[in-house]
Amino acid sequence: MKELRKVTNNYSHLQGDCMQETKSTLRVLQMNHCAYCERKLDTVFIEHFIPQSAGSGLEFDNFLAVCSGNYYTDKLKGNKIEHCDTKKGNVNLNIDPRKNDHIDTLSYSEDASLTSEVMIFQHDIDDILNLNFYELKRERQDAYNKIDLEYIVGEAHQIFPLKDRLRKILSMAERGEFEFSAYIKFRVVARLKYIENSENE
Ligand SMILES: [Zn+2]
Repeated sequence: MKELRKVTNNYSHLQGDCMQETKSTLRVLQMNHCAYCERKLDTVFIEHFIPQSAGSGLEFDNFLAVCSGNYYTDKLKGNKIEHCDTKKGNVNLNIDPRKNDHIDTLSYSEDASLTSEVMIFQHDIDDILNLNFYELKRERQDAYNKIDLEYIVGEAHQIFPLKDRLRKILSMAERGEFEFSAYIKFRVVARLKYIENSENE
């Protein structure tokens, strides 16, 4: 990775093997999920967080692995919703997914909308990255329901106490192991809090 970080200035330096290596390193670092929408990555696209047009060099720290940014509502007809890097284009974002203090402002509403307590971040989320369209919110909810079905309702795990099962999901989500890990973490933390509060009553 140190070698990759040294590569600068010219995009042609990043062709061929080096490009592949950059993509696979990012895939591993991000557990194969898009840095913006957290959907599973089929094909990896490299996003220059600070656009090249804004003078960024080829620094590894400026790269994010992102999805195609096309959500097909009807593939045959070519009907799609653009999001992530594809929607963003060369616009500079205020929110930076690499910064913990930015991530800490994020939460989810009842309908699985991604929200931020900082107004300019919310603008990036809704208008620049388009991360709250109906189908994506439904995918977040489905991902949580799938985990719930497997680890909470599923018989295989019933021998462990509920809190232990939730903590196990939480640590997997914190490692980014799931599609939509951030949303799953949010739901599990809320559920653990609820259990702990009712125990203390
Ligand atoms: Zn994405």
